[in-house]
Amino acid sequence: MPIRPENRHRYPSNWKAISLRIRTVRAAGRCECHGECGRGTHTGRCPNHNGAPAYGTGSKVVLTVAHLDHTPEHSHDANLRAMCQGCHLHYDLDHHAETRAATRRAAIQATGQLALDDPAA
Ligand SMILES: [Zn+2]
Ligand SMILES: [Zn+2]
Repeated sequence: MPIRPENRHRYPSNWKAISLRIRTVRAAGRCECHGECGRGTHTGRCPNHNGAPAYGTGSKVVLTVAHLDHTPEHSHDANLRAMCQGCHLHYDLDHHAETRAATRRAAIQATGQLALDDPAA
């Protein structure tokens, strides 16, 4: 997953080395997702290997490193998972959907609160 420029400063300065070590040494080039992605298309550990055709789609696997708590500042090993793009995307999609829902809830609550506070309402 490419790092967005506005988030780059949140990553440790040695992120490239950390990411490489997780993908090549710890994961040995294989996706480390054991279902955390929630897409339910693989049981047990995801079979995708970096550079190999992905199961299902056959497109080339690009191994990435995901932050389990979606916080780049937390780049310690326990919070990191090597993930193929399919797992990583799905993992982040869930998170983004949650974030959007929370934002929407907050906006609705804020509106309700404003309406209650507004004597003209
Ligand atoms: Zn995977
Ligand atoms: Zn997965």
